[in-house]
Amino acid sequence: MYDFTSTDLDQRIWAEELDGFVPDRVFDVHTHIYRWAFNLNPDKETGPYAPSIGRYFPEVTTKLADEIDAALLPGRRVERLAFPFPFAGQCDFDGSNTYVANETARSADSAALMLVHPGMSETEILAKLKRTGAIGLKPYLVYATNADRAEAGITDFLPEHQIALADRLGLIVMMHLSKRRAISDPDNISEMLRLSEKYPRVRWILAHCARSYSAWAIEKAAANLRGLPNVWYDTSTVCEADALDALYNGVGIDRVMYGSDDMIGPMRGKYIAFGFAWAFLSETNHQLSLGHCDPRMTYIRYEQLRAMKRGARQLGLSPAQREALFHDTARGLVDAARTDVRAALA
Ligand SMILES: [Zn+2]
Repeated sequence: MYDFTSTDLDQRIWAEELDGFVPDRVFDVHTHIYRWAFNLNPDKETGPYAPSIGRYFPEVTTKLADEIDAALLPGRRVERLAFPFPFAGQCDFDGSNTYVANETARSADSAALMLVHPGMSETEILAKLKRTGAIGLKPYLVYATNADRAEAGITDFLPEHQIALADRLGLIVMMHLSKRRAISDPDNISEMLRLSEKYPRVRWILAHCARSYSAWAIEKAAANLRGLPNVWYDTSTVCEADALDALYNGVGIDRVMYGSDDMIGPMRGKYIAFGFAWAFLSETNHQLSLGHCDPRMTYIRYEQLRAMKRGARQLGLSPAQREALFHDTARGLVDAARTDVRAALA
């Protein structure tokens, strides 16, 4: 397991920069709860996730997520919107969805989303939602049906019949967009406009600041997306303050919600951006010479919280806005979805 015990460096960043920023109640809209055993790829031990979550977090429970939050956000009460880890290739969807629902049920205030792939029929999704009580869908670009997944359109991995079902039930859809230009891609923008209008009861959450790890993507898209009544954004793993600043100002702070992307958050490192690229920089994947400074890294979570705080400097957040950002907006969204889904499935 990953050693997430805090160091004096982590403690200093928490005390000096973050303790006064993070409110008492937190709703994390982006947590993965899963078991490594649901990765069914025969070569998984040499696959892309093996050195990170396979090695460090092979068994994620609500209890573990609570322990990590207690260590990283001391004294805060945390509830979650949780969903499986979308293993590429062969993934045990049924096991993943049952597991996350059971784990999430340990906390009455948390909720789960169901991992879906484009081959799932409406009947199959409906049956699973009824059995598990999940309140939305988690599609993912690795399941896209087109050849180039890095350029997949939204309906390549979330077919329109699944979106229509989400509309009928009022489901949340956690959308991690594809395409190298992310949300600034004209195709992603026009699809979001089309789908949010055609299916007004779907509650979209665009993950990772609409996959804008630096400002440029959301800067281009925000004027088009601003005002869409059924689209929200989570801040998970975005560590550049300029991205948060562009998001808060571009779409409105009332559409933005905290997310951790755990078990990514407790790992040390930072998502960095340059040019039109972004990448994960860790303690073990660089060759920088750092003799002139304290070379240690802190949690990705802390780099993200620093960015959320500094990105709000121009705007200035009232205590109520901070509470909305970290809790109230998500709480309202999840409660409304749960009420609609229960009524629709009753
Ligand atoms: Zn995620």
